[in-house]
Amino acid sequence: RAKELGRSRFVFYQEEMTERVQRDAELAHMLGSAGFFEQLYMVYQPQFDCESGELVGFEALLRWLHPEQGLISPMIFIPIAEKRGMIDGIGLWVAQHVCIEVGRWLEQGLNFRTVSFNLSPVQLRNEEGIQNLLSLLKDSGTALHHFEVEITESACMDASEDTLKLLESYVNQGLKLAIDDFGTGFSSMVALRQLSACRLKIDRSFIRDMLHDANDEMIVKATIALAHSLGLEVVAEGVESEEQLNVLQKQGCDIAQGYFLGYPMKQQDAMSFLRILGDKSYISASVDRDAI
Ligand code: C2E
Ligand code: MG
Ligand code: MG
Ligand code: MG
Repeated sequence: RAKELGRSRFVFYQEEMTERVQRDAELAHMLGSAGFFEQLYMVYQPQFDCESGELVGFEALLRWLHPEQGLISPMIFIPIAEKRGMIDGIGLWVAQHVCIEVGRWLEQGLNFRTVSFNLSPVQLRNEEGIQNLLSLLKDSGTALHHFEVEITESACMDASEDTLKLLESYVNQGLKLAIDDFGTGFSSMVALRQLSACRLKIDRSFIRDMLHDANDEMIVKATIALAHSLGLEVVAEGVESEEQLNVLQKQGCDIAQGYFLGYPMKQQDAMSFLRILGDKSYISASVDRDAI
């Protein structure tokens, strides 16, 4: 009987695997099809200064809206794009669109500090790709200090010495660098030592559990202290409630981002948001739920 159970479980597992492999293959095919890039767009999630309540900038996040399959999460399709050698093209597309949008906002006299976007670990393994992306930012005509790239701790481990040096040379010219999902990698301290980062983004999981788990609260507190002692700004990701925000403010967190403060918004909405909040100083719970 145990054997039978074991076997049925195995069959179930096997079916699940086959389904996943098929789904991945289907997605890979969709990624490679003509029109893919026209199905992409960026959304922009606001970030606020915890103390003044001022809107300081946005994180740009990629969205894929497939005509039949609907919205597909970057958590699903980025890993497949990475495996299929498509991430460099996608990464460049992202940088290009962020450049255009940031240029447009500045042209309109809108007031913000930075717009950040994510670099994949696989992208960071290709020095030439990173070189192209950084040149694109530099040649865009927008001052580099308006851009921030987010990389995870493990991505930093994977990147070559030369790539990190290249990145660093851009940081010296004003580009901002954030360590994303801080606390979830194996190499937190190594990343801090190797990079001239400007910001640490505390991973959402710590913020989520902070109010109920004393350990997580201590980790958040210690991370803020560590970052500050290294001269880095701290961004809390995934702030979903006023209570969380209050605790973060008390602990001296610099910047907050999360659904409580604002959902990721399409470019037009982000621009209106900036127009309304750019000059005023307050944190407001926001609007557009559709754009998530
Ligand atoms: P990330 O860089 O850590 O981005 C933050 C994620 O948390 C985003 O998910 C955002 O929508 C979500 N989020 C923000 N506030 C809250 C909140 O209060 N609660 C919850 N539960 N979630 C919140 P998203 O947009 O689905 O992106 C997921 C991940 O996909 C990103 O994590 C990033 O690693 C990757 N990604 C997104 N866009 C890009 C891109 O343009 N290039 C690359 N390489 N990766 C991207
Ligand atoms: Mg990020
Ligand atoms: Mg993150
Ligand atoms: Mg994350």
